[in-house]
Amino acid sequence: MGQIDRALARLRGKLHRGASSDESRWCPLCEQGSAQFLPYGGHKRPDVRCPQCGSAERHRLIWLYLTRYSRSLKHPPRLLHMAPEKCLTLKLQPAAAQYVTLDLYASGVDVQADITKPIPLDDGAFDLILCSHLLEHVDDDAFAMRELVRLTAPDGECLVLTPIDPHLPTAEDLSITDPAERTRLYGQSDHVRLYGLDVIDRLTSAGFDVESFVANEHLEPAEIQRMRLEPLERLLVCRPTR
Ligand SMILES: [Zn+2]
Repeated sequence: MGQIDRALARLRGKLHRGASSDESRWCPLCEQGSAQFLPYGGHKRPDVRCPQCGSAERHRLIWLYLTRYSRSLKHPPRLLHMAPEKCLTLKLQPAAAQYVTLDLYASGVDVQADITKPIPLDDGAFDLILCSHLLEHVDDDAFAMRELVRLTAPDGECLVLTPIDPHLPTAEDLSITDPAERTRLYGQSDHVRLYGLDVIDRLTSAGFDVESFVANEHLEPAEIQRMRLEPLERLLVCRPTR
């Protein structure tokens, strides 16, 4: 983000806050309050996106986990940020000893790679890996998960986030390519599956020990409401078993 963009974002933030003196929302990423968050996503869910930094629930959850509950940022980590989100990059890049971004399509990343093929990075090269809302997009998620295990340092952690329906097993049929049908079945036109809680079994089979970090098990309801977290969203904290 350039200087002008930042100034505009600040101004938008001020205008937004000016609409009301109420600062009932708080973003832990940009550390600013606002009266209300903005709509977000394909369904324009109300009161989700931070007007200052653009964060959504999952970005705030990741940041809260990293700053309050994890040791990963205690010493500047070698960090691999897949499909990097700008609001997190702004905080993570300065906190990292080495900061590497990876994406298949986005320009301006350090490594342009498909995570269902061998990734040109060394074994155990990263103390912290962020893989958020990515696995539901790729056909061979088992291969991608094994790559995540391979790249994570023995005492490192890989944070995985993906949409999960906790009531059903994973739904997938790779022969379905029609965008409308994928949206109907998996929630988005470029999703190839909708995980159930058995995503944890898949990550375990790949070689991770998986712990779930869920907002409502760690934070007070008032704090969840103020930061507009999804109370049951599950951040999967994965550590290699090797
Ligand atoms: Zn923010």
